[in-house]
Amino acid sequence: MKRLLVIAAAILTLVAQAQNFPGTKPISIVVPFTAGGPTDKVARDLGVAMSKTLPGGNFVVENVAGAGGTIGASKVARANPDGHTLLLFHIGMAATPALYRKLSYKPLEDFEYLGMVNDVPMTLIGKPQLPANTYRDFENYIRTNGGKLNIAHAGLGSASHICGMLWQAQLETKEAMTTIPFGGTAPAMNALVGGQVDVMCDQTTNTTAQIESGRVKAFAVTTAKPLSDHKFLRYYPSLQEMGMKGFDLTIWHGLYAPKGTPEAITTALNEALKKALKDPEFIKKQVDLGALVVTDKRVQPAEHKKFVAGEIQKIKTAVDASGKYAD
Ligand code: ASP
Repeated sequence: MKRLLVIAAAILTLVAQAQNFPGTKPISIVVPFTAGGPTDKVARDLGVAMSKTLPGGNFVVENVAGAGGTIGASKVARANPDGHTLLLFHIGMAATPALYRKLSYKPLEDFEYLGMVNDVPMTLIGKPQLPANTYRDFENYIRTNGGKLNIAHAGLGSASHICGMLWQAQLETKEAMTTIPFGGTAPAMNALVGGQVDVMCDQTTNTTAQIESGRVKAFAVTTAKPLSDHKFLRYYPSLQEMGMKGFDLTIWHGLYAPKGTPEAITTALNEALKKALKDPEFIKKQVDLGALVVTDKRVQPAEHKKFVAGEIQKIKTAVDASGKYAD
């Protein structure tokens, strides 16, 4: 009886919170990587745009980095489902269940899907001191010197890790590069600019400014075709054009709430997200950074969930075939 009363009280609290949402408490967007990186940038810009579209909404970003994003995702899976703790995660939402056999959350069961946000191509970049200036020279240099070089990534299952793996699998270097994991690609970028690491593959949302200012060298983009609409990324070839069969990698981001978040709240958040993705300022920032906001259809929670389920299957098949896991 006492237990039933406790459950009833919890439900009544959630109903009251749903009616007053967002209230005065800030809405925290958990980014499962370090501050200043590409996921963080998307979250901060999205927070600003959603603050405009959700009356009273005060969005703040919380960085919970580590283990390829799994620590942050796990924190949100266990958070109070009151709409005040959200997760912005990328392709890692689908890659981590394949790579980590002991994961403390279930991507399809432990979250409410709020909608997808954007698609972001990646770029293959190197430290400024590398002797190569074209992709071909770069490739030859890596093939011969792989054993002496290192490649940075944001942890097993991160976008930079997946990209680096796919690229190296087709490159066939004599000796593999050493992988150096970071809590996100913001510190990895600092190490690259400083020459402490040699190579990285990362989202354009983190690399465009560094490429434009010449602080890193860019060699190729990961999309099937070059980014012909971007003001300067269009000068870089796609890996597929350079002979990497079927290479086509774009990183998508989605927004999630803990399972059990009341429908009134998930609907309000989805509505705010849809409107934010129409905000000309947000759209322009994304386009300048080489990214594209998703279409209305992909902001639908059911579409979002269906897409992630498909990606989980696709990545799991590839990882199981390779037999390489993170744990
Ligand atoms: N770009 C990172 C990744 O490789 C994550 C980040 O720092 O946003 O997944």
